Amino acid sequence: MSKTLLKEINKRKTFGIIAHPDAGKTTLTEKLLLFGGAIQEAGAVKSNKVKKSATSDFMEIERQRGISVATSVLAFEYKGKKINILDTPGHKDFAEDTFRTLTAVDSVIVVIDVAKGVEEQTEKLVKVCRMRNIPMIVFINKLDREGKDAFDLLDEVEQKLELNVTPLSWPIGMGDRFKGIYNIWEKNIKLFSGENKQKISDGIEIEDLADESLTELLGEEDAENLREEIELVTGVYPDFDNDEYLKGELQPVFFGSALNNFGVQELLNAFIDFAPNPLPKESETRIVRPEEEAFTGFVFKIHANMDPNHRNRLAFVKVVSGTFERNKPYLHVRLGKSMKFSAPNAFFADKKEIVQESYPGDIVGLHDTGNFRIGDTLTEGEELNFKGIPSFSPEHFRYVNNSDPMKAKQFEKGIDQLMDEGVAQLFTMEYNNRKIIGTVGALQYEVIEYRLEHEYNAKVSYENINIHKACWVECKDEKSPEYQDFLRVKQKYLARDKYNQLVFLADSAFTIQMTEQKYPSVKLHFVSEF
Ligand code: GDP
Repeated sequence: MSKTLLKEINKRKTFGIIAHPDAGKTTLTEKLLLFGGAIQEAGAVKSNKVKKSATSDFMEIERQRGISVATSVLAFEYKGKKINILDTPGHKDFAEDTFRTLTAVDSVIVVIDVAKGVEEQTEKLVKVCRMRNIPMIVFINKLDREGKDAFDLLDEVEQKLELNVTPLSWPIGMGDRFKGIYNIWEKNIKLFSGENKQKISDGIEIEDLADESLTELLGEEDAENLREEIELVTGVYPDFDNDEYLKGELQPVFFGSALNNFGVQELLNAFIDFAPNPLPKESETRIVRPEEEAFTGFVFKIHANMDPNHRNRLAFVKVVSGTFERNKPYLHVRLGKSMKFSAPNAFFADKKEIVQESYPGDIVGLHDTGNFRIGDTLTEGEELNFKGIPSFSPEHFRYVNNSDPMKAKQFEKGIDQLMDEGVAQLFTMEYNNRKIIGTVGALQYEVIEYRLEHEYNAKVSYENINIHKACWVECKDEKSPEYQDFLRVKQKYLARDKYNQLVFLADSAFTIQMTEQKYPSVKLHFVSEF
């Protein structure tokens, strides 16, 4: 095993921050980059938020797509480690983007607003992480504001997110009375100081909370409260165990205020200590370990170029094993085609650059003219496909029609490429070949219409269709009379997805229920991988 490879693997930590919009993901990202010295001032990281107004303002969508390519991967160094943050859009219409990005992270930080508690998007995203046993650290943010009681909030996190938490830091007061943080893990206290609480004291070591110095530091009341609360914490929550965290069975919790840069360093230090290096990844045939010499990687995101004159796209590849090298031929497994990349990009906090070599955990941006699809695998020759980029049933469905017969080719190509990018899902009806596009949010239809027109010079029109859910069909015995009957009776509701898998487009929850009752051997799945 090459020493360089091992050294590089041990240096890397690749993670994502997940949060409901407005919880403080952008602010926290920025503070982490400031600590890493990757940016010099606050305000350098642009939020990738899609504002409500964007629905009617296409230039705004374009501008925001530009931002989101810029913030797709942010890399920085801290304490000798190379940290890659993968951006995960919080907006629910882009949830699928986030789900896919989660297949490329080795751990996550969950940000929760102390006043709002556990919100809808957090719940959905954490569920996906839990299903994959991704190690999670929880950061409770905005302690400078009045919010929920810390114990109540931890209860909420345990119940709604089904996590097994243990706090490693603890707030001293909250809102106007917020004084600082007791770091349970390192046994020290950090206090706000100065008029407007903009300054942070150096850590004050507190070996024993019973010590009189605590009373001097915090005053009688706060010192007593802290002692009582920590006693309760120690009694109620399990001890932190790094292995349990790595297995996804225990989640440490930190408190702080990203905006005030408070509690962020504690979080970062803990992250450096606890968070995993690049992990092995399961493929359809075997588990691939990062330290294997041969390069493997997979595409988890595709981003179209901002310049409509060049239909050039950037495919984001996560390196799983070995060393990725510029200009070396690799096998594009799905196409069975050998490809070389002369200008692979590496990402930094504020720029991307051509890179010669990349290592497991890294993200490489490959220029693509339409060869890649999300989930594609690259290897040095091995026929291998990585698992785990499922599609979820869309929420909205519409027929798509080409409304300019002269531009049929452009239309087909546009639809094809946008679907490869994962903007939405395409279903082709079995009995008449009509095309249906399914999306997570209504916003995507406008994005598709705008991009077809501006990038492919094609015009689309939509037609409503009453579909409740797409169900991927599975039947162990495809020759059975029951399955044949299902195919015949449901003929008009069957379609193929992009991977040629059979899908039943059900018009209501009731239909699904009835179908399951009538055809018990036919399994209906809401996810494309089962
Ligand atoms: P995102 O949607 O999760 O990326 O959230 P942002 O980082 O954009 O933050 C949303 C809003 O919350 C912004 O106005 C931030 O300034 C504010 N914010 C972030 N962190 C804190 C904090 O610690 N305290 C307070 N009071 N506001 C915060």
